[in-house]
Amino acid sequence: MAERMLQFIHVPRTMPDKRGAKQRATDFAEIYDAFAADAAKAQASRCSQCGVPFCQQGCPLQNNIPDWLRLAAEGRLEEAWRVSSSTNNMPEICGRICPQDRLCEGICTIEQSGHGTVTIGSIEKYITDNAWAEGWVEPIKPMRERKQSAGIIGAGPAGLAAAEQLRRKGYQVTVYDAYDRGGGLLTYGIPGFKLEKDIVERRIKRLQDSGIKFKFNTRVGKKVTLQKLRDTHDTVLIATGVYAAKDLKCPGSGADGVHAALDYLTASNRKGFGDAVAEFDVGTLDANDKRVVVIGGGDTAMDCVRTAIRQGAKAVTCLYRRDRANMPGSQREVQNAEEEGVKFEWLASPEAILDTKGKAKGVRAARMKLGEPDASGRQSPVKTGETFNVKADMVIKALGFDPEDLPALFDEPALSVNRWGAVKVDYSTMETSLPGVYAAGDIVRGASLVVWGIKDGRDAAEAMHQAMKQDARASKVAAE
Ligand code: FAD
Ligand code: SF4
Ligand code: SF4
Repeated sequence: MAERMLQFIHVPRTMPDKRGAKQRATDFAEIYDAFAADAAKAQASRCSQCGVPFCQQGCPLQNNIPDWLRLAAEGRLEEAWRVSSSTNNMPEICGRICPQDRLCEGICTIEQSGHGTVTIGSIEKYITDNAWAEGWVEPIKPMRERKQSAGIIGAGPAGLAAAEQLRRKGYQVTVYDAYDRGGGLLTYGIPGFKLEKDIVERRIKRLQDSGIKFKFNTRVGKKVTLQKLRDTHDTVLIATGVYAAKDLKCPGSGADGVHAALDYLTASNRKGFGDAVAEFDVGTLDANDKRVVVIGGGDTAMDCVRTAIRQGAKAVTCLYRRDRANMPGSQREVQNAEEEGVKFEWLASPEAILDTKGKAKGVRAARMKLGEPDASGRQSPVKTGETFNVKADMVIKALGFDPEDLPALFDEPALSVNRWGAVKVDYSTMETSLPGVYAAGDIVRGASLVVWGIKDGRDAAEAMHQAMKQDARASKVAAE
């Protein structure tokens, strides 16, 4: 093994090829090519097989990274895939969109020693894409069928991971989702240039082929009540994500041409599926030929600026109130956006939307500087007194999301939420204040990451299994 691994001294870190900025800015296909088999092997062989693998600590799923890197370096790809998929329900999706620089790769030992991290995400993607291509990823065939059932509200990463884990144990699983397709933000939030949609669709089809029922266009709280689901199923999981967009509080924010990020991204993703989208088709949510300003510095803002470029915007500017080093979005995505022609105005906070007869024409921004650190140690931005204007026909608000008022929506005041509206759970079981009702993903954590949604979904599924197993035992004893 030693000969095959530890190659970081001889083999430099490389990523899969990235398509040129000019070419990729004209379409919504992913920007990274797949690793060739030889390159994947060589990159995996750079791992030093640490006795204490920090990469694993940095992964929310505690993936057995050194093991599947070694197997990939040895060309044992089916085993690598089996190890990788034993802890992750969608490794090829995480490999594409986890912010690895802040998770597994950021703390890789050889990154810390200055040799450049092992490209863990790209290898993870390669292993599972290869498994799909080889036909190894098959529908789940549970060892035994159980009569008990679970109802899952939300077909995003948290709900899908839980559904898969429960089905593996033989439970009857129904997933209810307000949208017409599964995937949650994987489908309607994240654009195709980060995650092509057929990658998500094949996962959902596999779950359907595994016997999981999906009820789309079914908003719980409207079409069906939470109480009805509790009566129908033995356990219920709330995995509804967070969708209340934080608003822009400045003069002119109600002007025509000012849009919420998710409306904009959902319309674009729907067009990718070939759907009719009235607000896009009449031009309202289409950035073509417009000067676009996006306000925010997270992943959502990065997805908006890069979508606008692809729609043929005349100019795209991102305003963020802190500096580059302190933005929440991935540095990799900022670099991609810059290459594609996005202009960043760091340390800039919107003061007013400038309009003519109610139609947005620009943004007046205050120039900021970083002040004293706050209680969390983060430097707060403060105004310098200088302002400047940016012309805009379209302004996109990407300021983050809060939970919706679930106790009201579900007509269930006994469902406890915290002061931000996130559902309260007992973290050892993911159970909410309602017995038999569990919660996972963004609705528990606030806006987070796909990989944390998967982790929560898996944890909740395990607790639901334990509870249903105990119930089944208790009913058996009572019947004897
Ligand atoms: P969601 O994915 O939001 O899924 C919730 C599902 O519940 C939806 O399908 C919704 O229709 C359904 N639902 C809601 N209410 C109801 C109801 N009442 N009844 C029935 N169904 C309901 N994370 C990353 O790791 N990497 C990224 O690159 C990244 N990029 C992002 C880009 C954007 C634009 C956004 C908005 C987020 C991004 N994230 C990213 C975050 C990530 O998408 C989320 O953390 C993750 O999807 C949360 O999963 P979830 O299952 O909790 O919720
Ligand atoms: Fe890294 Fe994400 Fe994969 Fe974990 S799931 S190993 S954090 S890319
Ligand atoms: Fe390999 Fe880096 Fe993980 Fe160490 S920390 S086991 S070098 S991937």
